[in-house]
Order: sequence, then structure tokens, then C-alpha cells
Amino acid sequence: MSVLTDLIYGGSNAVAGLTEGAVNDAIAKYGADKEIAFPDTAYFFPTIYAATGVKVKTLGDLVACVGVLKSLITNQEDLGQALNAGLATAVGAEILEGLKYVEGGNPYEDETGIGFVPDPIIRSLGVPLVTGDIPGVAVVLGKADNAADVIKVVKDYQSKGIMTFLVGECIDQVAEGVKMGLELRVIPLGYDVTAVIHVVTVAVRAALIFGNVQPGDLAGLLDYTKKRVPAFVNTFGAIGPVEVSAGAGAIALGFPVIVDIDLGENQVPGALVSVCDHNETVKTSLELREIKIKVTELPIPVAFAAAFEGEIIRKADMHNEMWSSKNPTAELVVMKELHEVEDHKITIIGPDFSDAKELALVTFVEVAGKKMQVDFESVIERKFHAWFNYMEGVMHTGQRNQVRVRVSNAAFDAGLRLKDFAEVLYVMVKNEFEAVVDKCQVTIITEATEAGKFRDEIAMPRYAQRDDRLASMTDEAVDRYYTCILCQSFAPAHCCVVTPERLGLCGAVSWLDAKATNELDPNGPCQPILKKGLIDERTGRYEEVNRMIAEATHGAVENVTLYSILEDPMTSCGCFECICGIEAVSSGVIVVNREYKGMTPAGMTFGELASCTGGGVQTPGFMGHGRHFIASKKFLAAEGGIERIVWMPKELKDDVAERLNKTAKELYGIENFTDLVADETVTCDAEELYSWLTEKGHPVLNLEPLM
Ligand code: SF4
Ligand code: ZN
Repeated sequence: MSVLTDLIYGGSNAVAGLTEGAVNDAIAKYGADKEIAFPDTAYFFPTIYAATGVKVKTLGDLVACVGVLKSLITNQEDLGQALNAGLATAVGAEILEGLKYVEGGNPYEDETGIGFVPDPIIRSLGVPLVTGDIPGVAVVLGKADNAADVIKVVKDYQSKGIMTFLVGECIDQVAEGVKMGLELRVIPLGYDVTAVIHVVTVAVRAALIFGNVQPGDLAGLLDYTKKRVPAFVNTFGAIGPVEVSAGAGAIALGFPVIVDIDLGENQVPGALVSVCDHNETVKTSLELREIKIKVTELPIPVAFAAAFEGEIIRKADMHNEMWSSKNPTAELVVMKELHEVEDHKITIIGPDFSDAKELALVTFVEVAGKKMQVDFESVIERKFHAWFNYMEGVMHTGQRNQVRVRVSNAAFDAGLRLKDFAEVLYVMVKNEFEAVVDKCQVTIITEATEAGKFRDEIAMPRYAQRDDRLASMTDEAVDRYYTCILCQSFAPAHCCVVTPERLGLCGAVSWLDAKATNELDPNGPCQPILKKGLIDERTGRYEEVNRMIAEATHGAVENVTLYSILEDPMTSCGCFECICGIEAVSSGVIVVNREYKGMTPAGMTFGELASCTGGGVQTPGFMGHGRHFIASKKFLAAEGGIERIVWMPKELKDDVAERLNKTAKELYGIENFTDLVADETVTCDAEELYSWLTEKGHPVLNLEPLM
């Protein structure tokens, strides 16, 4: 037998033995009926569920799984068979990690590692993964002989936006030199090698959530992870049989493994590769997985990467603050004539970061271009938030005249100044909007009186103009809608239809965004749907929408309505911000956001509701959508509109209250509609909800029953 298969089987058999023993011990201690589950997932033990269709709910269910696991280990001298044994190791790791959760609570509470990754986090990764904002996923495992090497590698991934999961003692090594956290895209999972399963289940659940892979379809699962999950593994330091067999599991999923020891002839081209020089680790890894990195060369003294978007700067680390509560702020993009703009002109009016701690901040970007349109001003302006945050040591919140920007001591010491802000805006506008922006000039004002004058006399009237334009932009008022198929890289059968009154379900693509995307990239993900061939006004059914959907989904979906949850509702990819579902007792709908962890009156959590739809499948009665859609006059218009809403988590309700109440007043003359909508502080029980709605006189009680 070759050294490699020998090692794989050695590891798989060891894990099988450990798993069997642990399951037996747990049953002896707690009984076979003891319930067991990972936290906040609708997919049970995800690897087992996806590969076999078995829903593990009790310790007793695990006995059969151990049997399946052992059957995968044939001990035959064949690489394919040995890779299957690697999958057995994955199943064993899943069981061993699952057993840590047997007593409920979070076994990782007091650890640096986070353990199991809940479903909502995976859903939130959908859009950044498809847009290439997160270009890939690295799994770094083991303990480096030299800590500086693994720090350098992980930093490099971070600067490229790669999401890096850490397993083993490298966690402590990396912690010495890299800021870690989910928001910073460097995520410690756990010290035991079995913790690697927590990234495997992310890939596996992506297949179930976005890919519509059916539980039990192992071949479909492996095909999905190989083609659509851009992950790879780097091991550091010596590796034993268990690591090798876990690596075989990764290879079976389609993830190349790069080790830093010399495997000689045991390497498997494209799948198992030795790279002993750590300076080559990142490059080789990205090449093997064919991950391309967009590099933006910026002449600024701090790093610039999407990975820094979630960085928080606390008061103690703060050198400067520009905040609308203390000084005037405004962000504005204005379209000008070509002759009015001097390309790359940068003007700074007022003190710099070295002159005062607290400053006003106006960022005024004037753009001109033959294909530029006034409607794109706000599309560009909304990107400021991300671009400011991409600078390491800069934190940005808010927009328009309500802005807060912090600069850290470290960024200041590195030499970051106002001209760098201007440079970032210039380069990014030109990069991302090159199809419409030919010239761009940037003015920054930090002098308070001047800034206040700009805000009041130039910015505010412009915002007001835009708001009027947005309010007048209804589905009736335009001649085209847009498709968006960005999510097809994960959900191959999904297509959003974006209209002025219904944004994409991820919440990130409005009709204006789709329009701009189409202008920037005419053959790209957003194609116009000319509003022709009205079939049914009530449900929003159009021949042309159906034709475009069928084309965009390669025939997977042939009929879609714009305004109904019951009749051919729009499909979901899986990355929706909210889901609405029918609440049978009241014949209303509940709306639940991704962040809400509790129970709902439908008897399901967000995750469970969400698992009813996704992967581009139509599921009448359930629909994913963006937060903003809730207050739309078109929300479930075919079924009676927002009057159907009976329950929302409090946070969501408060967030949309102002707009929702405005719509309810306009449509039905109802004052303070949200007072009639229950939340978790009222009840999560359907019967109690019904009594409460009756007491309040909720309008849903006067509507036709839904079913
Ligand atoms: Fe994905 Fe739809 Fe958002 Fe486009 S609009 S990115 S397809 S969820
Ligand atoms: Zn999506």
C-alpha cells in the first residue's frame, strides 16, 4: 500500500474508533433518546444530512451513522476509495464535535474558537461571495514551525479579502499578529483537528441553502462544493494520520490541500501539493483553486481591503472623529458637464488630522462622463461607506448629512491624511464606474463654517430633489424592470426581478443599482425586462417577465409574479434579508429577519422558515425578500398588501416602522399600523396571537382567508 493511502486509512480508522467509543459513552451517560443538535441550524448534522438524508435528532440516531461511516472505509488500495475514507473522517469529526453540544449551551463559550457557524451567517455571506468581494475561503490548519510565517500568510489572505478559518494551535500564533473576528474575515474555529468540520459544514450547507442540492444526493453535493465553493486548505507543521485523512475528505469535496512538508511522490497533482517555501503558499493556493484577486493599487499609507470593512475603532484607539452630531458633515456626488470637471483635481479646505481631533467633513465628488446619468449619483455615493471602511484604521457609518468617521491612532501614525481620503474616492470612482465616469474631481471641506454652508445650501437641496425623484419612481412609472442573476454562481436556478418598488431580496440591489449595473456592463448580470404583455395586473404577471425569467434560469422557472406570495412567487437564492410566511390561524403573514434567533408564531425559527425556500425554487406561502420591501405598496399586493402583516421581531418592526406606517396611512388610512403588529414581546404562540389581533382589531381579520 502507498504511504499516502496507508496514512489516510490509518487516520480514518482511528477517527472511526474514537467516534464509536464517544457515541457509546454518550448513550451510556445520557440515554439514546437524549436530543442533540448544533445551534441555530435547520440542517441537523449538516454533513450527515446532506450526504445521506438522515436527520440526526437524538444520540440514538448516531449509531446508524457510525455504521455508515465505517462502511466508507474499505481499506482498499485505491485513491478514490481512500478519499471516501476521508469523508468518513469528516462524518466522524462532525459527530465528535456534535457531541460537544450534547448538554446544550455553547461549548466554545470560553474559547478563542467559535465552533459551529450558524445558518444566518452563511446566508449573509451569499452576496459578498458572488460579487467577488470575498474571493475565496482558506482553511489554515496546524501549528507553524515559525509563527511569523503563518501570520504573514493569513495577513496576506486578509488583505485580499479571502475568508480564513483557523484550526489548531495556529490560532494562538496568528492571534499574535492579526486582528481576528468574523467581521475581519479571520475566524478561529477551534483547537481540535475535528473543528475543521465547522468550515466543511459551511460548504455543505451552502449546497443545501443556495444550490438546491437534495439531502442524500452525495454526488450532487460533491459536484456543488467542487465547482462552486472556492475553498482550499493550508496545513502548517507536521501532520499525522488524522490530519491526512481529514485532508483526504477536503480533497473529496474538491478543495486542494497545500502542505508545508515534502510529500515527494505522494503528491496528487492539483489536489495534494507540497509547498515548503511559505512565500509561495498564498500564490500556489490561489492558483490551484483558480481564484483571481482584483488588486487596487492605492497610493495611501494604510492597507485597503474589504476585509477591514467590519473593523471597529474604539474611543481609546481614536485619533480623529468627524461626526454629524458635533460638526457639519455631508457626502455628495454630483454630475457635471465634461468641461466643468478637471480629472484628478483634489481640493482640501480646512484643517487636517494633525491640526484638530474633531473636524467637520464634507466629501464632494463631481463626476462627468458621456454616459453618466443623474440617477447614478446616489449609486456612486452609497459606495463611499464601503470605501472608507476598506481603509485599515478608518471606520465609517451613516450617509448623506448623517455621517460618523473615525481615524485610528495607528492609521494616523502611519501617515494617513485627508488627501488619502480624496485619493481613495478618486481611484475607486474611476475603477468601479469607469464605463460612465470619464472625469472625477474631489473636494474635502473640514472647516466647520464652510462645511455647514455646503451642507445646507448645496447638499440638502440635492438630497431633497433625489427623494422626490425616488418617490415618483413606481413600478407603473417606468418602462422596464431588471433581472439580476448575480447569485447564480451559488444558486444556478435563481433570478431576481428588480422593480422600483421591489428591490432584490438581498437588499443590496435596487432598481437604480440594477440600471447602473446594466449600463456599466451591458452583457452583465442585470438585463432589462421591457414591461410588455401584461397578463394579470393583480398578481403582477407579464409575458415578458416570464420569458426573461425562463431565459435567465435556463428553463428552471417559467412563471413568476411580482406581487404574490401564493401564485408563482419569486424564487429565492438563499441570501435574503427577511422571509415572510403564512401564519395559518390568522390568515396573515409573519415577516422574520435573518438576525432574529427566537421562535415565531409559525412554530419555526428564521432558519427553519428559510430552509423551506432557496436554491431558486418557488415555494408558495414562503418568500425571501429585502428589508426595504416590507413598507412597499407592492408588498404581497395580490393578497391584500401590508394589511396581511401580523407579526415581526421587534427590532425589524422598529426599523421599518416609520416607512411602514406611512404606507399604511396612504393605502388604508390606518394610523400607527405597527401598533397592530405583534412581536416576540407580545407572543410567539399562534392562538395567543389571534386573540391579541382580535383585541386590537387588526385589519387582517376582515380580509379573505388565504387558503
Ligand atoms: Fe442575488 Fe437577487 Fe441580490 Fe442579485 S438582487 S445579488 S440575484 S439576491
Ligand atoms: Zn442571493
